[in-house]
Amino acid sequence: MAKKRILYVEDNLQNKRLVKKVLNAKGYEILEASDGADGILMAFKERPDLILMDINLPVIDGMEATGLLKSSEVRHIPIVALTANAMVGDRERIMAAGCDFYLQKPLSNAVLYETVKRFVGESTPDDLPQPDTATVSAPLHEVTLSA
Ligand code: MN
Repeated sequence: MAKKRILYVEDNLQNKRLVKKVLNAKGYEILEASDGADGILMAFKERPDLILMDINLPVIDGMEATGLLKSSEVRHIPIVALTANAMVGDRERIMAAGCDFYLQKPLSNAVLYETVKRFVGESTPDDLPQPDTATVSAPLHEVTLSA
């Protein structure tokens, strides 16, 4: 199972650190962008498995960035909005912008992980020892012994 890559578009440093820590611990690789424009560029360049999108962002906000991505060649990448917005109609506006799902801050680590897992599945760090390695190295060992 390959390591899943998640782009987190967020301007709040504390949120960035927290989400990165939680998802790194679960084996996901986190790519970061600090504003909507950078988020769009990163999405095109890196083609992540999932995008976590803050809504209140500098340069281009999360709704506009989502709208642009969802009308582009990377429209297949799921986008989950993470936002503190709680005004009436916000959820509808965010979903109308093209987000696949919506999570309201503050959110628990468990809810974050369950949502990520639902969209992209589990991830395995690629530096873990693979079971196949022992099988592959066995013949070499035999060759060494017989020489
Ligand atoms: Mn923000």
